[in-house]
Amino acid sequence: MEILKNIQLKNFNTFGIEANAEYFTEIFSESELEELIKTSVFKKNKRLILGGGSNILLTGDFKGLVIKLNLPGINILNDSPEKTILEAGAGVLWNDVVELSVNKNLGGIENLSLIPGTAGAAPMQNIGAYGQEIKNVFYNLEGYSTADGHKELFTSDMCKFGYRDSIFKHELKNGFIITKIRLALNNNPEPDISYNAVRSEIEKLGIDKVTIKDVSKAICKIRREKLPDPSIVGNAGSFFKNPIIRRKELKFIQRNFPGVAYFDTGENTVKLAAAWLIENAGWKGKRIGKAGTHVNQPLVLVNYGGATGKEILSLSDEIKKTVKEKFDVTLKEEVNIF
Ligand code: FAD
Ligand code: NAP
Repeated sequence: MEILKNIQLKNFNTFGIEANAEYFTEIFSESELEELIKTSVFKKNKRLILGGGSNILLTGDFKGLVIKLNLPGINILNDSPEKTILEAGAGVLWNDVVELSVNKNLGGIENLSLIPGTAGAAPMQNIGAYGQEIKNVFYNLEGYSTADGHKELFTSDMCKFGYRDSIFKHELKNGFIITKIRLALNNNPEPDISYNAVRSEIEKLGIDKVTIKDVSKAICKIRREKLPDPSIVGNAGSFFKNPIIRRKELKFIQRNFPGVAYFDTGENTVKLAAAWLIENAGWKGKRIGKAGTHVNQPLVLVNYGGATGKEILSLSDEIKKTVKEKFDVTLKEEVNIF
């Protein structure tokens, strides 16, 4: 384990923002992490735990220690007739976990195909897409407290999962280093094609009996066509969460905007499509200097080359302001801002 000084983070965040880490280390095993936790650099500095950097915005140099987690290993643990437990090290690419499960016909995460980043970061915001969320197959996770270095196991309840949310974004923000996750996958998968885009892609294939492999393939195709590839245009996926509001607030918006896009989430609540709000506030494809919104999906803010984190942040503030003025809805960032 080596602690380096003044390291450029441009290649460690998918926004491609230039920023320096005062201290930087890469961790490949739990024993290296235990060694790191005992060092004075770890104890005395602010820390940023880093996976693939696909859900962060760096607004300046990071004064403290960046810990890039590369813990490897995917293992299939015990099987029961219904469920199979799959374990992945925090540094394993999330999509490798999905591919293994799809190839073994283990269901529950096929709709999360091609989400960038690592397995260790997946519980952070309870990653979700096309109707699935990791919480639905989550078994447990392991890691270390940054406060006192003790090792702990978290069950699903302890993670307090919510919509793109968990305890690790609140009480334990920067307070817990996830080293391993375990999922309980379904041995008898039931493909979920409830999202229109997935259903119509599957229909085009004209298949009678849909498998999770078909669903995964369809989703990979949709994502490749619709979303900007961070290796070409810097971005961190959706910048904001879809707002959940009360039904009576929806009625108020509908008076002036009858076409507002929403989905039912409960008896009294609905989820507004943030992309619709941003587009209808006039932001689709707009640029301010080197920062802008993506032409196909305005919920994705992009770095058109050389933007600073502060420029992206001020674009996001402008978007929030116009959406609030027009619809009286407050957008909340999904991306983690440092
Ligand atoms: P990072 O960006 O490195 O970190 C994210 C946060 O987690 C940071 O706060 C970091 O400190 C913390 N963290 C990272 N690793 C650990 C760890 N081991 N222990 C404790 N804390 C940790 N997200 C979705 O939910 N659904 C999508 O469909 C989706 N699509 C995307 C598409 C694109 C093109 C992009 C660029 C992003 C997309 N995302 C999506 C967002 C992102 O990929 C996910 O949130 C992903 O889980 C982030 O993983 P990461 O390893 O890159 O995390
Ligand atoms: P989309 O299919 O154009 O849909 C727009 C929004 O409507 C989505 O945000 C989605 O909410 C919601 N939606 C659509 N159909 C729905 C249904 N049947 N039931 C409930 N909600 C529905 O969205 P998109 O931008 O192309 O993304 C497709 C999927 O990939 C979405 O699930 C999205 O979350 C995910 N994605 C996430 C990120 C990220 O960074 N977080 C980036 C790209 C794509 P949900 O977002 O709640 O699903």
